[in-house]
Amino acid sequence: MLRVAVAVPLPGLFDYLPPKNGGVPQRGQRVQVRFGHRQLVGLVMAVGHGSRFPRSKLQHVGEAIDPIEQRVGEALLALLEWCSRYYKHAIGEVVFGALPPDFRKPTSRWPDPPTELSITGEGCERLAQPPGRARAQHRLLAALEHGPMPAPELLAAAETGRPSLAALIEAGWATEQPARPRRRDPSEGPVLTAEQGQVLDAIRAAGEGFACHLIDGVTGSGKTEVYLRLVQDHLAAGQQVLVLVPEIGLTPQLLRRFETRLGVAPRVFHSGLSAGERMATWAAAARREAQLFVGTRSALFLPLTKAGLLVMDESHDPSFKQQDGFRYAARDVAVKRAHDLDIPIVLGTATPSLETLHNARAGRYHQHRLVTRATGASPPAIRVVDLRTRRTEAGLCPDALAAIGETLARGEQALVFLNRRGYAPVLLCHECGWHARCRQCDANLTWHRAGRVLVCHHCEARERAPDVCPDCRADALQGAGEGTEQLEQALGRLFSGTPVYRVDRDAVRRKGELESLVETVRSGEPCLLVGTQMLAKGHHFPKVTLVVVVNIDQALYSADFRALERMGQMLVQVAGRAGRAQAPGTVILQTHHPDHDALRTLVEEGYPAFAGNQLDERRLAGLPPFAFQAVLRADAPDREPVRAFLQAARQAWQGRGMSLHGPFPAMMEKRAGRVRWYLLAQSEERPILQRALDNWLDAVRRLPTARQVRWAIDVDPQEF
Ligand code: ADP
Ligand code: ZN
Ligand code: ZN
Repeated sequence: MLRVAVAVPLPGLFDYLPPKNGGVPQRGQRVQVRFGHRQLVGLVMAVGHGSRFPRSKLQHVGEAIDPIEQRVGEALLALLEWCSRYYKHAIGEVVFGALPPDFRKPTSRWPDPPTELSITGEGCERLAQPPGRARAQHRLLAALEHGPMPAPELLAAAETGRPSLAALIEAGWATEQPARPRRRDPSEGPVLTAEQGQVLDAIRAAGEGFACHLIDGVTGSGKTEVYLRLVQDHLAAGQQVLVLVPEIGLTPQLLRRFETRLGVAPRVFHSGLSAGERMATWAAAARREAQLFVGTRSALFLPLTKAGLLVMDESHDPSFKQQDGFRYAARDVAVKRAHDLDIPIVLGTATPSLETLHNARAGRYHQHRLVTRATGASPPAIRVVDLRTRRTEAGLCPDALAAIGETLARGEQALVFLNRRGYAPVLLCHECGWHARCRQCDANLTWHRAGRVLVCHHCEARERAPDVCPDCRADALQGAGEGTEQLEQALGRLFSGTPVYRVDRDAVRRKGELESLVETVRSGEPCLLVGTQMLAKGHHFPKVTLVVVVNIDQALYSADFRALERMGQMLVQVAGRAGRAQAPGTVILQTHHPDHDALRTLVEEGYPAFAGNQLDERRLAGLPPFAFQAVLRADAPDREPVRAFLQAARQAWQGRGMSLHGPFPAMMEKRAGRVRWYLLAQSEERPILQRALDNWLDAVRRLPTARQVRWAIDVDPQEF
């Protein structure tokens, strides 16, 4: 009897009989199974005896799809089982959500390990003779004369095909063997600053076993330089290293820096790669063909078989939380994985999340500080400008415009940050007050003027922008508020002659576009950059000396208790783009609330003081990280079944250990045509919450109303 995980949203494993013929597949091997009327790929999780069902009801699985050496390893399986228990998510969806997408296809296989060819002694002799009729083979030998080459490169160089190569090997003139990873001499990094040296020494001194190190270093303080040295240690020891970066951080710039400094090209893993490429990286990790892996959230589950170190850069970044399907917090799972592997993990950031700071204060993480910029540049000065007393043009006040003018006049660059795409967030009729709403969401449509469309940024619905008001027919439609498209236009008009580059998802779509733009900016000509968070993170623009933050006011009085924390992180990250080289940087922050307490603390005293205050407030309010939460979300086309289900779910819990609050409508009640509500479960102790959730969910699953809605549990939720 086999217990098999299948990619369906049902809890638990499914019982099957071993294949009719052939051996019994082992834990971690893939098999084909019949599930209802479908043929699916399952992963064997246990091989045992009894079943709750009579044998006659059970079906046979197909033979193991992959050879035994390619089974999913024990350490990873145990981690996935833990994830399923902790996040209360169906094991089949956890397993197939974590493995590369090709695992669901019965025909997909690991690619063959890369090989390379080298010339033999006889081959050298043959090369010394005239080619005669074997001209293609002669070219192959000539290409191999200077060293081994992978087959695809060799064939390209000799302009010939596989058959001539096969003949070459047959004749004993060349041999094919597993490729050795290509290494170049690593380039030497800068001499570390005293601060960097201390952090590096402290982390090295903590040893090989599990420890969680937080490198809490201001932007440009040289955190990456410290990771590089640590990574180097572990590569030299023959171990594997995984570096996790935010979705937006996986730039060719970063990869090149790793490659030149370490002498090996990192293997990358992220959702932008093809299924085949992801399978190849997976196989490379399992077969130890490579040591260094860099990837986004999903790379966390790569099958490292000789791991020595995990690094998570920008560890506060929201993209580390998976927000749908198998919802997990990659930072927490990474720490768990490092713990299970008994290896160190390094979390780096200039703006640690409050959870991370709390863990550091509690002594669970070692906190290492870098308080000065590595290049010696001074931190940017932030100037708060009161929008209530100033007129604006395209959202920019005269102070900001003047500062931009001066910056350009000095031959430097300025960056204008606004986290809102499009021309205007609202299209409004000045006669009757009509404004464009999304039919599917509780949201306004954003006006994209250049494309003459209205777009919903929540469900992607689009429609043609009307020329006159659809309600009163007046020719009085105007945009209200600003988006990046409008800023780009206005700046182009006000500073004609200076190139303006817009960086957001609309302007920068194709692969490589952002990269070439970044190169242009780094080349140093005076220019203006306008953009969203795409621009705010990770980039190093030596010539940017001014950053203008157009608007952060929405976050100041949000109902989301995490809004201020995120605003603070974003502001510090954007400000960190200014003055990274020698020239000092300035940040202009426009706001209608210059006296907001938290904002003032952030500006006047910096992120640590700001975060400290936020933590105090969370403690007083009994909110995370001083309490543990889970959210039961439900949605359906209509409100009634959603509320009825959540009411019933609430009543299904009379036990102790957690309090239930709600049902509440989600921050955006209607989205993509579905009405969304939630129940909030909270407890002061994590294990108690875990147990209570298990008991509660057993009851919730049995509710008749559960079948009328789509529902999901989100443990440690980040949004509501
Ligand atoms: P962070 O990761 O903290 O943002 P980086 O490691 O990217 O910082 O360093 C910021 C800049 O400072 C980079 O251009 C880097 O090359 C440079 N840098 C880092 N460490 C040193 C050092 N010890 N001496 C000189 N320059 C350094
Ligand atoms: Zn009107
Ligand atoms: Zn919408």
